[in-house]
Amino acid sequence: MNRERSRNLYDRALSVTPGGVNSPVRAVRPHPFFVKRGDGAHVIDADGNRYLDYVGGYGPLLLGHDLPQSVQSALQSQLADGPMYGAPAEVEVELAEFVTRHVPSVEMIRFVNSGTEATASAVRLARGYTGRDKIVVMQGGYHGAQESTLVQGAAGRTSEPSSSGIPAAFAEETITLPFNDAEAARELFEERGDEIACVMTEPILGNYASVPPVDGYLETLRELTEAHGSLLVFDEVMTGFRIGGLQCAQGKFGVTPDLTTFAKIIGGGFPVGAIGGRADIIEQFAPTGNVFQAGTYSGHPLSLTAGLEMLRFAAKNDVYDHVNSLGDELRSGLTDILADRAPEYTVVGQDSMFKVIFTRDGPRDLEGQCEAGCQQNPDCPRFDFCPKDKTDVDRAETERWERLFWPAMLDQGIFLTANQFESQFISYAHTEEDIEETLEAYKKAL
Ligand code: PLP
Repeated sequence: MNRERSRNLYDRALSVTPGGVNSPVRAVRPHPFFVKRGDGAHVIDADGNRYLDYVGGYGPLLLGHDLPQSVQSALQSQLADGPMYGAPAEVEVELAEFVTRHVPSVEMIRFVNSGTEATASAVRLARGYTGRDKIVVMQGGYHGAQESTLVQGAAGRTSEPSSSGIPAAFAEETITLPFNDAEAARELFEERGDEIACVMTEPILGNYASVPPVDGYLETLRELTEAHGSLLVFDEVMTGFRIGGLQCAQGKFGVTPDLTTFAKIIGGGFPVGAIGGRADIIEQFAPTGNVFQAGTYSGHPLSLTAGLEMLRFAAKNDVYDHVNSLGDELRSGLTDILADRAPEYTVVGQDSMFKVIFTRDGPRDLEGQCEAGCQQNPDCPRFDFCPKDKTDVDRAETERWERLFWPAMLDQGIFLTANQFESQFISYAHTEEDIEETLEAYKKAL
C-alpha cells in the first residue's frame, strides 16, 4: 500500500507537534496514517487507501462514520443557531432527561468536555461529599490523563505517579487493587475503609484486554463501599451506552453505583463527558454545593445535540441487536481461527467490543475447544481459563500484536487498535460481509 502522503504529513507533523500526534495512542509504528475522511464502517487515508475501521474513534462512533439524517439535520440546525452561548440551552435538559430515564442510578447529571474531566470531577465530588481523601482504583484500569489515577505500585500500598509531572502527593492518596480480587478489597476496607472516599472502576477493564468482572465482584465492591460510607463510582466512559445497550454496563451486571462517569457515545463523536448519580451527591457540585466544578464549553450544544440524536436513533432502531450480534459472530469466528492457528491466544470482549489477546500462558487448559461463541461468556465451559486479572493479561506479547496490527492486518485493509490492550468496536455501519472479510484477514495474519 502506498502511504506516501501520510508519510509526508507525518514528517511535517513531527516538526510542529510532539511525536507528530495530539494523543500518544495515535503514534503507531512505523508512522500513523492520516485520515482524509470516514465512510460508513471505513476510513480513507490521505493516499486514498480504504480501511475497515474497528477503532471507531476509540469508542464514540456507535453508528460509524455516516451520521443518520436525523443527527445531521439536528447538527446543521444547531450550527445555524450558533455554536454555543454561555447560558443554558434546551438540549442540555433533553440529554439529561434521556440519561436519567434509561440509567436508574443517574438521578442528576453534570456535563463536562471529556472522559478525563468527568473522572477528575467525580473524584473531587467523592472527596467533597465524604470528607475523605483516599481513592481506590484498579490495576490495569484507565480513567484518563488525570493526576489522581495515573499511578503505579503494589496493590493496597501507597502508589507512585506513573507519569512525570505529577506530584507524589497526588499518588499517595490513591490505592490500587487487583481487579476481581474480592479478598484484597475486603482486606483493604477492613484496614482503611473509613479513609476511602470512593472506589472507581470500569465495570469491564476495557483498556486492559476487556477483563470482565467475575461473578460477585462488583457486588462485593458495592457492599464494601456502602458498609464503610465510601462511594462506588463506575467509569462508564467506554462501556456507557455500548455494553448493555441503553441501560449501560451497570444494568447488564445488575449493580448500582453511586456515581457514573460517561463520555464517548453520549457526545455522538464530539467532545463530551458527564458525571451522573444520586441527586444528593451530584447536588454537592457548585452552585448547589461546595464542590467547585465549571467549564466554558460544558454542555456544549453541538456535542449534546449529536449525542442526544444518536441515542434517540439507537433507541428507535435495532442498533444494539445489530452490533451485538455481529460481535458474537466475530468473536465466535475468531475463537475458531485461534483454535486452529494459535490456541494459546484468547478472544475477549462482549456485546460490540472485541480483541484477540496474545497471551501464551493466559488460557491454562489448551485441551478441548470453546463450545460457546465467546470465551468471556460465564456459561462457557472454558470461562475459567480466560484472562481475568492483570497478571494473566500482563503476559501478552505486545510486540507480536503490533506486527499483527501493521503490516499484517493494516495491509489487508483492516484498521485495529494499535495497542494490544485497547478494545476494538463494532458499529451499526458494519455488515456481515465486513465480519467475513475481517475473519479472512485474521486467518491469513495469524
Ligand atoms: N475512562 C475510560 C474508561 C476511558 O476509556 C477513557 C478514554 O479512553 C477515559 C476515561 C478518558 O476519556 P477522554 O479520553 O475522553 O478524556
